[in-house]
Amino acid sequence: MDKIAFTIDGSDIVADRGTTILEAALQNGIYIPHLCYHPALKPSGVCRLCIVETGEGQLVISCRTPVEEGIVVKVKSPEVDKVRRAFVELLIANHHTDCRNCPSNRHCELQRVMAYLRISKKRMRPLRLPKEELPLETLNPFFDYDPNRCVLCGICVQACEDVQGVSALKFVGRGYSTKIAFFGDKSQCESCRECMLKCPVGALLAKGDQKKV
Ligand code: SF4
Ligand code: SF4
Repeated sequence: MDKIAFTIDGSDIVADRGTTILEAALQNGIYIPHLCYHPALKPSGVCRLCIVETGEGQLVISCRTPVEEGIVVKVKSPEVDKVRRAFVELLIANHHTDCRNCPSNRHCELQRVMAYLRISKKRMRPLRLPKEELPLETLNPFFDYDPNRCVLCGICVQACEDVQGVSALKFVGRGYSTKIAFFGDKSQCESCRECMLKCPVGALLAKGDQKKV
């Protein structure tokens, strides 16, 4: 397969043609913040956290941008940081971040992104909306869904559709009230756990694992 040579933050990288910038970075141990990317799924680019700078200050979504010969990729730059931080703060404003009571504490991709951007609890506090806790959804016989912790990355919906070919989960609602819900006949869910296993935060968990925020 054709090889492409380029740089990420000054490091020389060689990747197969067709590889995305995000894939090449992760393959080489370079972290680029992301929430909606999963290696088993087609990149959707919805969270936009994986933006990087290429060439002359051009911002691109790295999970959807293939590598090119000689490009100069910057994961860290003042412009990238500013835009990425704005996306994350918007997410946090709508997220009830009580990490101590969350089963995903310490293995959560949102925590990892916040740590990377050095977003502290103190900084987060004024970003939070008035606390309006949405009820834990327990209708599914196999797992519970906490909309307060969901970052709307779409991984569960995509995993259900693309990996399992089932489509038991869908986005419902609009704006701040958007959430994940079962659609139609709940028996469509095959309990394969693909959605739970791929959820990057603590929003989908096996029955009994979920603690209320
Ligand atoms: S999903 Fe859980 S661990 Fe992750 S940031 Fe939210 S509350 Fe904290
Ligand atoms: S439940 Fe998890 S995987 Fe599904 S959209 Fe929310 S955060 Fe993403």
